[in-house]
Amino acid sequence: MTQIKAAVCHAHGAPLQIETVNLRAPDMGEVEVTLKACAICHSDIHFADGAWGGKLPAIFGHEAAGHVSAVGAGIRGVAVGDPVVVTLIRACGTCPTCGSGRPVLCAAPPQHDGPLTTLDGGPIVQAMDSGAFAERVVVDQSQVVKLPADMDLAAAALLACGVITGVGAVVNAAGLRAGQDVVVIGAGGVGLNAIQGARIAGARRIVAVDMTEDKLAIARDFGATDGVLATDEKPWRAAKKALGKGADVVIVTVGAIPAYDTAPQYLAMGGRLIMVGMPHSGATSSYEPVMIAATGQGMIGSKMGDVVIARDIPWLVDLYRQDRLKLDELISRTWSLDQINDAIADTRTGAAKRNVILFD
Ligand SMILES: [Zn+2]
Ligand SMILES: [Zn+2]
Repeated sequence: MTQIKAAVCHAHGAPLQIETVNLRAPDMGEVEVTLKACAICHSDIHFADGAWGGKLPAIFGHEAAGHVSAVGAGIRGVAVGDPVVVTLIRACGTCPTCGSGRPVLCAAPPQHDGPLTTLDGGPIVQAMDSGAFAERVVVDQSQVVKLPADMDLAAAALLACGVITGVGAVVNAAGLRAGQDVVVIGAGGVGLNAIQGARIAGARRIVAVDMTEDKLAIARDFGATDGVLATDEKPWRAAKKALGKGADVVIVTVGAIPAYDTAPQYLAMGGRLIMVGMPHSGATSSYEPVMIAATGQGMIGSKMGDVVIARDIPWLVDLYRQDRLKLDELISRTWSLDQINDAIADTRTGAAKRNVILFD
């Protein structure tokens, strides 16, 4: 048992409290990672606000990187001292969905007793199987990917969620072919990565749709060829004008219902709508089934970019080292764990790309 400092959520919507908690040693199949960095994702904020339910107290945080500091029995592929990315993707590797290459949909993720307790022995939920707003985590070995020794760990932390979700939505979920046209709705932490995923995959044109000119300017830095303000009355008209037709692929990266309601309007005949942004539970959207049927379009949900972390994270690390994938530019600011509530408040404004907590 180790004592670590963590940001604990005791009440939905209330500030996180920095306190000392117990972390048990890694069991069979688990690794302990001493974190260097953890990015703040909008999903952490939705969970902390209670948007998707869940028990408390809990420790959120799921986009992390650090060094393996202890291993349980039966660990292969990583050793103490290795730098790793820590993801929330826990997969058995042997169920039918894992076996068919979709570990994000694993039917039987390995179960472990929760590693976190309060100092007096009470339960603490390890949210998203990670609990990475903390100095250390104990996670299943399937959740980590080894990094090159000289990889910057603040940049690497982003690979755990936002980057793979955005790039993967384009490359894995949409199966974009070189020369196709893409519209990305929302140019935030996931949207900017969908944009650079489209650039990497060889899109002809990439139209970013967002609420402000500032966001569209950032989108262009990441590879958007055109920008459209979502505040226009019928923004799909400007997108279609830029493309000369509808889009082969539309990626919705925000959880706003109006974005979902209007997204099919951007599609070309036969186009695919990739649904990535996650509205609150219970929120519904509507569309005209006749249009989807008559135009041969598709609506596809994509969780975590349909990523296979052992394949995709090393690929993305290599692209970063070739200057073909932007990671440093995604970080708007770094903060200490003690500043996490300020960092969350900054993330809520929507202006930040990614805020990253750095541990000493
Ligand atoms: Zn995330
Ligand atoms: Zn599985």
